[in-house]
Amino acid sequence: MATLANLGGQPVLILPEGTFRSRGRDAQRNNIAAAKAIADAVRTTLGPKGMDKMLVDSMGDVVITNDGATILEEMQIEHPAAKMMVEVAKTQDKIVGDGTTTAVVLAGELLKKAEGLLDQEIHPTVITKGFRMAKVKALEALEKIAKKVDITHEDILRQIAITAMTGKAAERASKELADIAVGAIKRVAEGKEIDIDNIKIEKKEGGSINDTRLIEGVVIDKEVVHTAMPKKVEKARITVLSSALEIKSLETDAKVSIDSPEKMQLFLEEEDKILKRMADKIIESGANVVFCQKGIDDTAQHYLAKAKILVARRVKKSDIDSLGRATGAAIIHNLNDLKKEDLGYANLVEERKVAGDQMIFVEGCRQPKAVTILIRGGTEHVISEVERAMQDAVKGLAAALDLGKIVPGGGAIEIEVAKEVRKYAESFEGREQLAINAFAEALEIIPRSLAENAGMDPIDKLAALRAMHEKATSPQYGLDVFTGNVEDMYKLGVVEPLKIKLQAVMSASEAAEMILRIDDVIAAGGSERAPAMPPGGMSGMGGEGDY
Ligand code: ADP
Ligand code: MG
Repeated sequence: MATLANLGGQPVLILPEGTFRSRGRDAQRNNIAAAKAIADAVRTTLGPKGMDKMLVDSMGDVVITNDGATILEEMQIEHPAAKMMVEVAKTQDKIVGDGTTTAVVLAGELLKKAEGLLDQEIHPTVITKGFRMAKVKALEALEKIAKKVDITHEDILRQIAITAMTGKAAERASKELADIAVGAIKRVAEGKEIDIDNIKIEKKEGGSINDTRLIEGVVIDKEVVHTAMPKKVEKARITVLSSALEIKSLETDAKVSIDSPEKMQLFLEEEDKILKRMADKIIESGANVVFCQKGIDDTAQHYLAKAKILVARRVKKSDIDSLGRATGAAIIHNLNDLKKEDLGYANLVEERKVAGDQMIFVEGCRQPKAVTILIRGGTEHVISEVERAMQDAVKGLAAALDLGKIVPGGGAIEIEVAKEVRKYAESFEGREQLAINAFAEALEIIPRSLAENAGMDPIDKLAALRAMHEKATSPQYGLDVFTGNVEDMYKLGVVEPLKIKLQAVMSASEAAEMILRIDDVIAAGGSERAPAMPPGGMSGMGGEGDY
């Protein structure tokens, strides 16, 4: 369907044949519907009583999770507005690491409320303006309600970790796992600086969740490459290599012609020499351990084994980085550059058996902050979910300590902020007031969903919560989803980092505003499943020049 502009009675073709276009209310409604569909998809997973989703990909691989970001990532979403919602989850995940479902659900609810206002013929710009003002107020209220926390408040830290993990498969062992998360954070914390890159999360199937351990050092899921190599090296001097110990196959079309047995012999000898030189380079540097990101030729292995060097190959890029950081080794991209000063150090490098598999433990590293959380569990699905829970806990702790502030969970904070935003709305009139109030109502989707997901009557619970929050002294009262009572969340230990809520409010309202401002969707032809926006947004408007 090409779009025509009318010029003096002559139709003028401004878009190429096959371009999909929807405008005005249609475009708006379609985008809102798509965004709401995304929010609905994850809403039932919110909170400790939220359900899990089973996701099956085209290869038949199964992921069972309750994690908003993971669900959306696996869903392969096509619709452009829906994709913006996925971005909300991704941003939340990247910046805070937890609160992804909250952010997406909030964005969906803002759009739902906006739809109601559009129905009352309120213009989108009025709505977005009201939302923007309400957002500023909400962020302010969040800051005001938040309570201080620091690295010495171990009990609170444990509560943050447990709150972040509840609802994920880890629940049964959440106390032990929370202790591990707090232990790890305490190890890497230095004043206010917390670098969670020092915490490596590794998993190994087998055993039970309770076998999960905090290990001081780096654990690599690899084995020593050659049987003749040592399995244990004390006072390890470590080379970390990102390049292969192999002879590169020729990249051009050059041919080597071998037409006699002598030439063949020479060729092989030459190869052997090159590989030996590589091994010698390492031996000369004084290294007794090598971690290599790429492959290692059998011949090179042989020479390294003879020199009693412990070697692992095909080590993941992320592990190479961790090893570099932990042992102080410079990551070597070209073997010719290897110098003695580039070596890292650890008291002990040892291959050990974990659940029937070999893993390499690097302990007593130069950087004493490097730790590994080695997650164990019965099945792949269980450990993957425990891994996600552990990530939420560790990142949640880092987020809490980053701003040094926490807020009460269980919907308490949302009810309180909604109250403040409503109060603020009173200073406005008419349509703007409606928009600000809509924002306040949207915030209440969080306690509402927590109640619904726990099988409780959301209307009753919201009424009880609101009544409690009328008192100035009880901003921390939220819903105990296990009993249905309205409780003091600080006493119950349901606390969350302020950063989660700040970021969720920011990215949710930004996404909602952005979607509301769109009144024209133009998608290039050829995309069968239109409307899928062409990359770069509007550049599909061929003849009109590039925007
Ligand atoms: P998200 O992806 O947004 O982190 P979760 O499924 O982790 O979603 O749920 C987080 C919500 O669950 C937060 O609002 C938090 O306050 C709430 N929550 C966590 N533990 C409890 C609890 N024990 N009682 C009530 N609410 C809880
Ligand atoms: Mg969470």
